[in-house]
Amino acid sequence: MSLRTGQCMCGQVTYRADVGERVSVCYCKMCQRWASGVFMGVETHSFDVSDGAEHLGITKSSDWAERGFCRKCGANLYYHATEAGYLSVAFGSLDDTAGLSPRIQFYIDKRPAGFELAAETKEMTEAECIAFFAPDQMEGDQQ
Ligand SMILES: [Zn+2]
Ligand SMILES: [Zn+2]
Repeated sequence: MSLRTGQCMCGQVTYRADVGERVSVCYCKMCQRWASGVFMGVETHSFDVSDGAEHLGITKSSDWAERGFCRKCGANLYYHATEAGYLSVAFGSLDDTAGLSPRIQFYIDKRPAGFELAAETKEMTEAECIAFFAPDQMEGDQQ
């Protein structure tokens, strides 16, 4: 784990996060709509807004997850699976991404054609993701 800083695109929201080295890539349809492609996140053990907390928006994206973003510029800041207690900070929002690399791909069965990664990673299907993040939920195209 390492303590890293990050910010949204416009810089109004800044944060400090204790992150691991594991970068995840998610292909679920909600991430596609949210991030215009894949959502790349980094497993995070603590997330504290340093400045601009009043600009941090939080949207509940499903019964079991919420997503943080900047209300000023719209940049994605994190995905939070509330039931599982799993928070994943937006990879691109980190100031320094040295040493971080893709380790896992979520919703691999929803990956658009031509989006294969060069990195060797663990892969999880939609059903495996739901079983992990929200075992009480029905299967559905949401994350
Ligand atoms: Zn912003
Ligand atoms: Zn997703």
